[in-house]
Amino acid sequence: MQKTFLFLLFLTSLYACQSQERESVVLNGLTMGTSYSVKIVPNGVSTDKNEIYSHIETILANINQSMSTYINDSELSRFNQSKSTDWQSLSSDLTLVIEHGNQVSLMTNGAFDITVGPLVNLWGFGPDPFNQEIPSESAIQTVIQHTAFNKLLFDKVSNRIAKSDPEVTIDLSGIAKGFAVDKIAQYLNEYGFKHYLIEIGGELIAKGTNTEEIPWQIGIEQAKLLSRSVQRIIGLDNIAMATSGDYRNYFEKDGIRYSHTINPSTGKPINHKLAAVTVLHSSAMHADALATAFMVSGPEKSLPLANQLGIGIYMIIKTDSGFEERYNDIFRPYLTN
Ligand code: ADP
Ligand code: MG
Repeated sequence: MQKTFLFLLFLTSLYACQSQERESVVLNGLTMGTSYSVKIVPNGVSTDKNEIYSHIETILANINQSMSTYINDSELSRFNQSKSTDWQSLSSDLTLVIEHGNQVSLMTNGAFDITVGPLVNLWGFGPDPFNQEIPSESAIQTVIQHTAFNKLLFDKVSNRIAKSDPEVTIDLSGIAKGFAVDKIAQYLNEYGFKHYLIEIGGELIAKGTNTEEIPWQIGIEQAKLLSRSVQRIIGLDNIAMATSGDYRNYFEKDGIRYSHTINPSTGKPINHKLAAVTVLHSSAMHADALATAFMVSGPEKSLPLANQLGIGIYMIIKTDSGFEERYNDIFRPYLTN
């Protein structure tokens, strides 16, 4: 059984080669098991590239040291290792992300669930080594009884968190990238920048305009099998965008594709016709979590749910003859073609 990483749908910013382009500063690096890129159009703001790069690296290192389940002594790993059911005070950022994850659980009927980590591990997509076998039904049942977002308790007055089940753990992989994007945006705002695009592993936020003085242009390539030429270009200013897809991280066995997105109610990888979903929201953290939630909810439930939540949504759905796209009225104005 081979684990495959494939980007069927990719995001890229598009630039035309025009001589009157404004200057930009571009920073790239690796974080959270993926890559990041930050593009800034300083537009007169005095810019120290080295200082910005080192500050962004520090922001990302701090988030990882707090929220990563791949770092054994991160704040979150220590919370996960503890079997205590006492109230615990965690750092303010970690508390904020956990609470937000819980809110997204509530608004998506538990489709997004930060306690799914042990199931993610069981299916070979987490930090634990994978035994290359499809988990048995009984193994799933053993693990799933310790997962459920309502096993986390919140003391809003003192900002404390407790486990009602000593075995429950937290996995922020479906929300932390978005949070990091928001954090970098906050820093760039404080620096005085009005024009930038920040992207971590496909979750991004855009503000102002690009070097051509138009909204940042993000390409969504539709499923390659259908047609390479079909590409949607989305113009973004002052909004975040997140994408989840079943093509991103999966393995195949006996012709069945197993995705890293887990349906918390079955304990199994999602199994439906939704190939990819893109969502828009002012907060990248919120967009990131919702994209995963819609990926779990599937093509039929996600559109009405997005409308109800006031969220722009764009989906690529598998059909017998290829793929079709579906989006709501909130998303429509961002499509440039
Ligand atoms: P995608 O871009 O496909 O949404 P992310 O990296 O943002 O990918 O999130 C996927 C990760 O979220 C998984 O690797 C897993 O750790 C975690 N995850 C899987 N299923 C869920 C779920 N139902 N709710 C919350 N997190 C999940
Ligand atoms: Mg996500």
